[in-house]
Amino acid sequence: MTLRFASLGSGSRGNAVLVESDSTLVMVDCGFTLKAVEQRLNNLDKNPKDIQALLVTHEHSDHIKGVPPFVRQYGIPAWMTHGTAESLTAENLTNICKFNCEQTLTIGSLTVQPFPVPHDAREPVQFVFS
Ligand SMILES: [Zn+2]
Repeated sequence: MTLRFASLGSGSRGNAVLVESDSTLVMVDCGFTLKAVEQRLNNLDKNPKDIQALLVTHEHSDHIKGVPPFVRQYGIPAWMTHGTAESLTAENLTNICKFNCEQTLTIGSLTVQPFPVPHDAREPVQFVFS
């Protein structure tokens, strides 16, 4: 199976990466406003409605700012650690899927293995896709 990756942007003003298999499209982090991320998806000929899930590495705003509006708009789940999810408690989102770092996730045809990483956040992770 081929995996494809595309960056929607990277840096202190916002981060988001698409990961796509033959049948599954997910976005890692969403640090842009809803309008900005829709524009950036459009630039890559991607429809936001085709994204099946968000995966969030940590709660810094350049990674998470766009998560609440995106999951509200498109009704998709957002996967994150318990520590990262604490930062969104006030948002009252119903579609947050919390995981532990030793847990292997299956999202469509993607297998996602989170790993803890050192960073000044509550429970930051990186992801390995297969
Ligand atoms: Zn950070």
